[in-house]
Amino acid sequence: MHIRATIATMCALGLSGAAMGAVPEHFQPRAKELLADAIELEENEHRLNVIYFVGNDREPIADYERRISELLLYLQQYYGKEMARNGQGKRSFGLSLKENGEVLIHLVRGSKPHTAYAYGTGHNPCLEEVNAYLDAVPGRRTGQHTFVIMPTHYDEQYNDLNPGGVPFYGLGTNCFALDYVHFDIQHLGQNTQKGRLLTKWYGGFAHELGHGLNLPHNLGTASDNAAMGTALMGAGNYTFGISPTYITEASARILAHSESFAPKGTKTQFYTQMTPPTVVEARCKRVGDKLELYVVTSPDVVSTIAYLQDPPYVVNRDYDAVPFACTMSKLAGGQTSAIVSIPLAELSELKNSRGGELGLDVLMQTYEGSRFRWRITFDLNQLPADGSIDMGTPVLWRGY
Ligand code: ZN
Repeated sequence: MHIRATIATMCALGLSGAAMGAVPEHFQPRAKELLADAIELEENEHRLNVIYFVGNDREPIADYERRISELLLYLQQYYGKEMARNGQGKRSFGLSLKENGEVLIHLVRGSKPHTAYAYGTGHNPCLEEVNAYLDAVPGRRTGQHTFVIMPTHYDEQYNDLNPGGVPFYGLGTNCFALDYVHFDIQHLGQNTQKGRLLTKWYGGFAHELGHGLNLPHNLGTASDNAAMGTALMGAGNYTFGISPTYITEASARILAHSESFAPKGTKTQFYTQMTPPTVVEARCKRVGDKLELYVVTSPDVVSTIAYLQDPPYVVNRDYDAVPFACTMSKLAGGQTSAIVSIPLAELSELKNSRGGELGLDVLMQTYEGSRFRWRITFDLNQLPADGSIDMGTPVLWRGY
């Protein structure tokens, strides 16, 4: 049995944004084993609102508080370790903890039967009631990001070995995942039916939470994929727990300015900036076997990420967008600049279904976490060795 008691801060009911202290005594042996090498994470200013939502004709699935606490605490550690590996400090999303060491999971009972909150019904009926619940008591809402978990439906299509029927995606600052009887960390990494099922739904839980914490899709660079496996925000929802799955440097940079990751004591208002940053200058040139993107912007931009993607460029066809990130440097005059280097060999996993056509999405993130993008397309095959891409006039939209 591994008990970790090195963190002195014990956690009071619903008041702690700290990482867990000792692994709770009542956790499963497998959870204790997986949490034995937990790192001490920075305390958070804001915390994720975790909701277990049931229709008025349903009860939560047995032992959900322990099972989901184990899964969330392990995931908090995974995100924290990946942030540290990416040079962003031992930071993860904040969770409120109860006195017994479990995550504070609010049980919200809907006013209607479970079928009124189905995948096909959309998330709005559920979210309206969740928001009313969170706003009913001052202090109950602990941040702008909300994670909703609903039990699987049980009907001719869905059951505990084929869970589903409920919203399962992330959008804006909200995300949705599901629960079923075998959703238990004891099955993690096992080559069994329940182990493979756990990777599918826990990997999905980890990936959708990434969306709910501001992350877009991305595939890693060829080198990162070779070294570290599969990007969580690419196809990592199919590998999490069974083969190496990592968070890209670009994703870590975005998370560093996500409200849920803000260190305690930082009172920044997040996501309030509606006006796009000003792009003073933007050039992209082919220099031998790489592209070099140079931008000069207003000082509100903290990082610039270039996503290279093959067509089509529509939602959910961007799992293969390869990110290249860059920190902004201050210029004399108050503006900031970035040079993003894009070695073409790193794009080797793009299929380029339309010859050499590529999309270049430039994402600019502001200090308070807002993301703005603009996209250009170009044909790599038509670009001379020292040619420049026509960047047009930047039209930035506020988005994911
Ligand atoms: Zn996704």
